[in-house]
Amino acid sequence: MTDLSALPPVGARTEIPILRERGQREVFCGLTGIVWLHRKMQDAFFLVVGSRTCAHLIQSAAGVMIFAEPRFGTAILTDRDLAGMADANDELDRICVTLLERRPDIRTLFLVGSCPSEVIKLDLAKAAERLNARLLPRVRVLNYSGSGIETTFTQGEDNALRAMVPLMAPTDEKQLLVVGCLADVVEDQFRRCFEALGIGPVHFFPPRRAADPPPVGRNTAVLAAQPFNGETIRALAARGATMLSAPYPFGAEGTTAWLAAAADEWEVPADRFAAVTAPMIDRARKALVRHRSHLAGKRVFFLPDSQLEIPLARFLHREMGMEPVEIGTPYLDRQMVAAELPLLPVTTTLSEGQHVDRQLDRLRAAAPDLTVCGLGLANPLEAEGLATKWSIELVFTPIHGYEQAGDLAEIFARPAERRARLRV
Ligand code: SF4
Repeated sequence: MTDLSALPPVGARTEIPILRERGQREVFCGLTGIVWLHRKMQDAFFLVVGSRTCAHLIQSAAGVMIFAEPRFGTAILTDRDLAGMADANDELDRICVTLLERRPDIRTLFLVGSCPSEVIKLDLAKAAERLNARLLPRVRVLNYSGSGIETTFTQGEDNALRAMVPLMAPTDEKQLLVVGCLADVVEDQFRRCFEALGIGPVHFFPPRRAADPPPVGRNTAVLAAQPFNGETIRALAARGATMLSAPYPFGAEGTTAWLAAAADEWEVPADRFAAVTAPMIDRARKALVRHRSHLAGKRVFFLPDSQLEIPLARFLHREMGMEPVEIGTPYLDRQMVAAELPLLPVTTTLSEGQHVDRQLDRLRAAAPDLTVCGLGLANPLEAEGLATKWSIELVFTPIHGYEQAGDLAEIFARPAERRARLRV
């Protein structure tokens, strides 16, 4: 286990005061999740039913693929479609059937709702039902909302996964289910780790093939790999699964505590746990030390964006010696961060939601060494002289687990290093 004596003491925050704000917010919508979900599930296609704005967002976030046929697209509703919703339904069915004829590799089609008013009037659940009657068993059609009115940034993943839960076969087998999209390389590392600890069988959700979701049942222990899949985990609990409470696997300490939650459930002997994890902890710590000198003692401010803010602030505070001035989160799901909250320093302000002008006032008054924020705010804040880090980079880069701990620290250390070089 991590030597906790070397880390800051656990904060005594049992009832955390939370600053709740409801105002204008600067957060991506849930469509963004398609960027990493389409890479993960190789047999799935994500069809956004939306406007040109949605198409533009998803194309610029995912990049335009020239050499590969993309597994996402946008069915753009125009004024003509508003003439009659029956026509719009026919048009949607026609687009889906044409797409699936052209792409026989697609086994699961996600219809993703967005927020223009004409899209909201379309019943995508009914459209999925209609198409399933035509297309099953070759292709299954699911639907979820990525609308900016209903979802923030990472909630799109939660909605997509929750839509898949009813497809999971029942099982009574004791098994571990890791929930949250991880890069394949990270998934393989964790799989080897669980194997060495004698924990299994282990399934990952989302799976690499959407058409083969893992089973679930009353002997399923769920370990969350991402803090934003609360609705999915509650849907799994309704199928009998139990959530293991643990911090998220960021940094050496977080990863050890995360693995320990599964090890406790499988009653892995302490000496076996220590023998398996010690070399990896050692490597991770050595990788972290390289960046600590750039980060220790520095003050960091998180604006709400990805839902990763709380676990990442905990990592930066406890393992890198940073002081989180304010941790903003789009929404606070207490069940999902129950093991994280007591690890935050008592001096931090925890804010939920956003009133962007007020938060920017607090940010300027605090003048932190590093601000973690969305793309839209980063450039203006840089122009004001604040060092920033794009939170989207933390979602797109593999940062979980021991082997990635150094890369994670480097993401935060880079702006500080760059500034230090510019000052020379
Ligand atoms: S879903 Fe809404 S917020 Fe997201 S890109 Fe489309 S119009 Fe914009």
